[in-house]
Amino acid sequence: MAVMAMAAALRGPGGRFRWRTQATAGGVRGSARGAAAGRQDYNLLVIGGGSGGLACAKEAAQLGMKVAVVDYVEPSPRGTRWGLGGTCVNVGCIPKKLIHQAALLGGMIRDAPHYGWDVAQPVLHDWRKMAEAVQNYVKSLNWGHRVQLQDRKVKYFNIKASFVNEHTICGVTKGGKETLLSAEHIVIATGGRPRYPTHIEGALEYGITSDDIFWLKESPGKTLVVGASYVALECAGFLTGLGLDTTVMMRSIPLRGFDQQMSSLVTAYMASQGTRFLKHCTPSRVQKLPDGQLQVTWEDLTSGKENMGTFSTVLWAIGRIPETRSLNLENAGINTNPNSQKILVDAQEATSVPHIYAIGDVAEGRPELTPTAIMAGKLLARRLYGQSLDVMDYSNVPTTVFTPLEYGCVGLSEEEAMARHGEEHVEVYHAYYKPLEFTVAERDASQCYIKMVCLRKPPQLVLGLHFLGPNAGEVTQGFALGIKVPGPQACLEPLLMESVGGGAGPPTSR
Ligand SMILES: Cc1cc2nc3c(=O)[nH]c(=O)nc-3n(C[C@H](O)[C@H](O)[C@H](O)COP(=O)(O)OP(=O)(O)OC[C@H]3O[C@@H](n4cnc5c(N)ncnc54)[C@H](O)[C@@H]3O)c2cc1C
Repeated sequence: MAVMAMAAALRGPGGRFRWRTQATAGGVRGSARGAAAGRQDYNLLVIGGGSGGLACAKEAAQLGMKVAVVDYVEPSPRGTRWGLGGTCVNVGCIPKKLIHQAALLGGMIRDAPHYGWDVAQPVLHDWRKMAEAVQNYVKSLNWGHRVQLQDRKVKYFNIKASFVNEHTICGVTKGGKETLLSAEHIVIATGGRPRYPTHIEGALEYGITSDDIFWLKESPGKTLVVGASYVALECAGFLTGLGLDTTVMMRSIPLRGFDQQMSSLVTAYMASQGTRFLKHCTPSRVQKLPDGQLQVTWEDLTSGKENMGTFSTVLWAIGRIPETRSLNLENAGINTNPNSQKILVDAQEATSVPHIYAIGDVAEGRPELTPTAIMAGKLLARRLYGQSLDVMDYSNVPTTVFTPLEYGCVGLSEEEAMARHGEEHVEVYHAYYKPLEFTVAERDASQCYIKMVCLRKPPQLVLGLHFLGPNAGEVTQGFALGIKVPGPQACLEPLLMESVGGGAGPPTSR
C-alpha cells in the first residue's frame, strides 16, 4: 500500500509513471550505501542484455519509456569472455551457424569436381582464419547492439545485478564498484550457462564448453564431445565437417525430447560422415598427460568395462543451468522451481512478484530459443507500455538442429502425438527422398527423410512435421504456418513435395 501511495505521488505531469524507490538505503549496507549517489530511476530495468532482454528494452524505449539494461558476462572457467548480445550472438546461434556453414562448404568443395570445378588438392581448412572472421563478425554485432541502445536512449550498464528488494537492484562492475538502480518494472532475462559435471575429476580443470569453443584461436584438434543434446551434436557435426577427429560420448539417447526416429537418423548420418559415437558410456576422469593431451577414462555402461582414450580437447555439452544463482531472488520474493532453478512465470511472463517479469531461457517452461525470447520481450513491452493485450504463444514453435544433415521440426513428435492422442488415433505419412543436389555429386541420401504426424480421423489434422535434409531451417519455417494455422494433411502434402524436389514420391502412411 505504501508503495502504491508513493507511486501515485510520483506520477508525472503527462500521467506517465516515474518510480522513485526509497527502499535502497535500508536494503543495502556497507559499500552499497556509498553507491546511493549513482541511484537511477527507470520505468523499466532489464537484467540481461541477450536476445530477450535487448528486444524488450528497445521496444519499451520506442514506446517512450525510460529504460536501462544491465548486462555482465561472467568469464567461463577457461577465462573466455565476450560482449553485449547474450548467448545467441556470442556463444550460440550466430557463431554456431557460421561454423556449421564453414563445415558445409567443405562438403560442397568435395561435391564441386562432380559439377566441373577443378579443385586443387589437398584442400585444407585454417581454423585460425575462420575463427578470426567469425569472432570479428560477432564483435560487430556487439557494437551494433550498443549503438542501437544508444540510438533509442536506453541506458546500458556493464554490471552484474542482484536484487536488493523488489524495486531495486545492486550492480557491481568488473572493478567492484557498486551502483543501485531502481525501476517500476523489472524484467529478468539472464539466460543460462553450460553445466559442468561436478563429480568427474579434471572436468572443470581441463574441459571446455560451448562458451569457449567459438572463441578458440587454435583448432581444438581431436575432440571428445560429451553429451547428447542438440548443442553436443551440432558441435560434433561441425568439428567433423572441418576434418577433425571427433567422438561423441553419450550416456543415454540422442536429442531427448525430439522425435526419436528422426534423432537416430541424425546420428546415423553423422556416423556416415565420420563422427564416432560412444553410446551408453559415461566419463569418470580427465587427466592431463605430460605432452598436454587429455586422457579420458570412461565406463561402458553396457559391458561395465572401463576404457581410456586420448584427446586434445574435451567439450562438455551436458545441459545448461539458468543464471538465477547470483540474483538474490529471495530479496525480492521471486519464486523459482527448486529442481530446475528457473523462474516461475505466468502467461503474462509475470513472476510471483507482479511487477517483475522473466523471459527467455531463465523462465520456467519456455523453449530455449532466441526467436521466442525476442518475441516474448517485445510483446511484454507492448503490454506494459503500448496498450496491447497480446501474449506470447509458445505452442508449435519450429526449431532446427544444425547437424551436418539439418533436422527441422514443428509440432508434436510421433511419441508425443501417440501419448496425447493414443496410438490408434495417429497416422504417420513419411517418405525418403533424394535432394536434387545430391544426385550429380553422388552423395548418399539414405537419411533424407520427411514425416508428417497426423490425426487419423478425417480431415487428418497435421500435428507435427519433421524434415531431415539440406536447408531444414528454411523449409521448416515455411511449414510452421501450416501447423500454426491447423490444416489437414492433404493441404500440406503437395507443398512438401514441391519443397523437397523431384526426388520423393508422395508420402505414404504407415
Ligand atoms: C551453442 C548454442 C547454440 C544455440 N543455437 C541456437 C539456434 O540455432 N537457434 C536458437 O533459436 N537458439 C539457439 N540457442 C539458444 C539461444 O542462444 C538462447 O535461447 C537465447 O540466447 C536466450 O536468450 P535470453 O535472452 O534468455 O538469454 P541470453 O541470450 O543468454 O542473455 C542473457 C544475458 O544476461 C547476462 N546476465 C546473466 N546474469 C546477469 C546478471 N546477474 N547481471 C547482468 N547480466 C547478467 C548474460 O551474461 C547474458 O549476456 C543456442 C544456444 C547455444 C548455447
